[in-house]
Amino acid sequence: MDAVVIGGGIAGCTLAYELARRSVKTVVIEQSMIAAESSGRNTGTLLSGPERQVVELLDACAGIYAELADGPVPFEFGRVGHLLISEDEASFEQAASIAERYREAGVEMEKLSGAELARDYPRIGFKVAGAYSVDRAWTLEPMGATHAFAHAAREAGATIRTGLRIAQIHSRGGKVQGVLSDQGIIPADLVFIANGLWMSDLLRRTVGDGPLPGLPFIAGRGWLIQLGKLDFELPWIVEELTWPGQEELGRRMDLSGLADVADQRDDRPMVEAICLNPMRGGDARLGASLQPAFRDLLRNTDMPSRIAKRTLRMLPGLGTPPVKNVYPGNRPMLPDGLPVAGRTAVEGLFVHGGLGSIGMHAAPATARWLVEAVLSGHGDPEQDWLRPDRFPGWKI
Ligand SMILES: Cc1cc2nc3c(=O)[nH]c(=O)nc-3n(C[C@H](O)[C@H](O)[C@H](O)COP(=O)(O)OP(=O)(O)OC[C@H]3O[C@@H](n4cnc5c(N)ncnc54)[C@H](O)[C@@H]3O)c2cc1C
Repeated sequence: MDAVVIGGGIAGCTLAYELARRSVKTVVIEQSMIAAESSGRNTGTLLSGPERQVVELLDACAGIYAELADGPVPFEFGRVGHLLISEDEASFEQAASIAERYREAGVEMEKLSGAELARDYPRIGFKVAGAYSVDRAWTLEPMGATHAFAHAAREAGATIRTGLRIAQIHSRGGKVQGVLSDQGIIPADLVFIANGLWMSDLLRRTVGDGPLPGLPFIAGRGWLIQLGKLDFELPWIVEELTWPGQEELGRRMDLSGLADVADQRDDRPMVEAICLNPMRGGDARLGASLQPAFRDLLRNTDMPSRIAKRTLRMLPGLGTPPVKNVYPGNRPMLPDGLPVAGRTAVEGLFVHGGLGSIGMHAAPATARWLVEAVLSGHGDPEQDWLRPDRFPGWKI
């Protein structure tokens, strides 16, 4: 059986690992470089959230990353604490109900006052009303993590081709035949579309049996600040509790029509909240923001300075490490904030994506569940919240 995986981000490289280690002859085709897009441009945190799906994904993924963590490609993987901070008394009071939702999703939390944090961690200089501490989170370096899956897939027999674009999916009589690349047709029995924000383009260009229904993707733009070496120890990933859950994130991503472009409603701030990842290499990655955007339209934004100001206000100790770079990335988001993994109306053609704000945290598990479902003959994972048929036009 020959499989083609389109896209060399975390969605594609995790699929390749799962397919190749089950002896499926696999080729990954990436138009640019491994982790060229979102998978190399993110914060690298694996965090709990107030939804049971997010917690299920977190625990499943942490186990899969651990399989690769001692392999030949290091990716700074490690367990770390998670501190959810609230700047003022009003938001700390509101946080109590969010903390309750975390608990209902199976996440234990300890409440801490701002005064305790300021006393115990004077070098950071906490200026917050309070926080909740969660003991389970993981940190990683995302480009390394994506390469670790690519490498493990290669070791298991997969081929990874970079700098080659897939232009079309080819199907006949309701069955996939292969893909059309810029260097010609590549036949395949199984094709996985795992190309992030470009997925809708390829669904539209499934030729032979007509285009497939699209998926309502929006680019969830975010800005990151790469800090240099920290001169103090940070025992947690620090996140503001105002960062919404997946459902709320998806809901805020409402953008589609020409009027939005005309009125410049795209790329406006929808979420602005500190997310600071102290990396195992000693430096740190600081975000985060979310602006519903169109993939290729980047408007001017003052978001990096807003994130910097916010951080200096609440964590003034972060003022000393040098800033190494500041850059945007795009989250491939669907309206419910959850991934898609499952079959399409064309036999042998599958989708894996919509990883939104939790791609590093979701893909190892969603890829494993999808490949198990495909090779067992069903094609849709047991987790029905992942199936593409929750979107209009997808019922098979
Ligand atoms: C600012 C920011 C912070 C984030 N922080 C976190 C975090 O802390 N934790 C977390 O879990 N997630 C985080 N994310 C989300 C995460 O980065 C994404 O969900 C994930 O990387 C998406 O992976 P992907 O493989 O689906 O897409 P991508 O990484 O975008 O990969 C898709 C690949 O497909 C290729 N491609 C496209 N079209 C074609 C074609 N026709 N032929 C061949 N190749 C093609 C592209 O070149 C690209 O390399 C963050 C995202 C952003 C932007």
